[in-house]
Amino acid sequence: MLVIDPDGRKLQLVKPIRVTSGPIPTRGVVTVDQYDDINCACGNIPSYAGFQPCLLDGSLVEPDHPEWNGLYWCAAVGCPGVIVDCRDPDDVQADIACR
Ligand SMILES: [Zn+2]
Repeated sequence: MLVIDPDGRKLQLVKPIRVTSGPIPTRGVVTVDQYDDINCACGNIPSYAGFQPCLLDGSLVEPDHPEWNGLYWCAAVGCPGVIVDCRDPDDVQADIACR
């Protein structure tokens, strides 16, 4: 799903894939590992550029924002624009809890 943020940038809404084999991030795929750490498709990880809570329109918020429900914006400079969708899903991966 494509999202246009308030600044007109295109962001891709991506549901991460749960992986249990770390620690090397898989480039090109957004994953969440066994420690609930996100690895973005661009190679970003929480201890590098990190991930910022955001809303569905791409606006950045604090984690205590009342409308925030588990979306993370990838903060890496080289990222093409990814929102990691860690909302509690009804579908396959019910145990995703990113950070
Ligand atoms: Zn990224």
